[in-house]
Amino acid sequence: MRPPLRGSAWDAGRAILTFMALPDFTPRVGNDPKSVVIHLTTGTGMEIEWKDGHRSVYTFAFLRDACPCALCEDERTKARRKAGEPAKLAPGALPMFKPAVKALAAEAVGKYALKFTWNDNHDLGLYSWFYLREVCPCAECAAARK
Ligand SMILES: [Zn+2]
Ligand SMILES: [Zn+2]
Repeated sequence: MRPPLRGSAWDAGRAILTFMALPDFTPRVGNDPKSVVIHLTTGTGMEIEWKDGHRSVYTFAFLRDACPCALCEDERTKARRKAGEPAKLAPGALPMFKPAVKALAAEAVGKYALKFTWNDNHDLGLYSWFYLREVCPCAECAAARK
């Protein structure tokens, strides 16, 4: 077994970003991740294993559509979209070609959040662990949100 990484580091061999949460005794609401794997090279998305054993799997498209920045939040509210829900086409509009959403880079922001740079050049969203757990797209969490 490899020793846990301190902070974040590029795993050049597998070309994914791995991040191991450091022991942190700050009391807070919610759950912290035990491990985070971001598949930047394959572009498949991100997997989080939480300290309570729950596992969250996000596609990059979902995360982009769940961007928590004020701009995207505002757009979603106007369009009545939930976090992670793709934009709907206006009635009668022709579908425009959009390249698949990809994360060009990901970095840890302190101990509490992640930041992505998306291939549409957007990088304003700070994805806190709390937020990521809140929008977990698995069936169990989706049912609990209803
Ligand atoms: Zn945004
Ligand atoms: Zn879940």
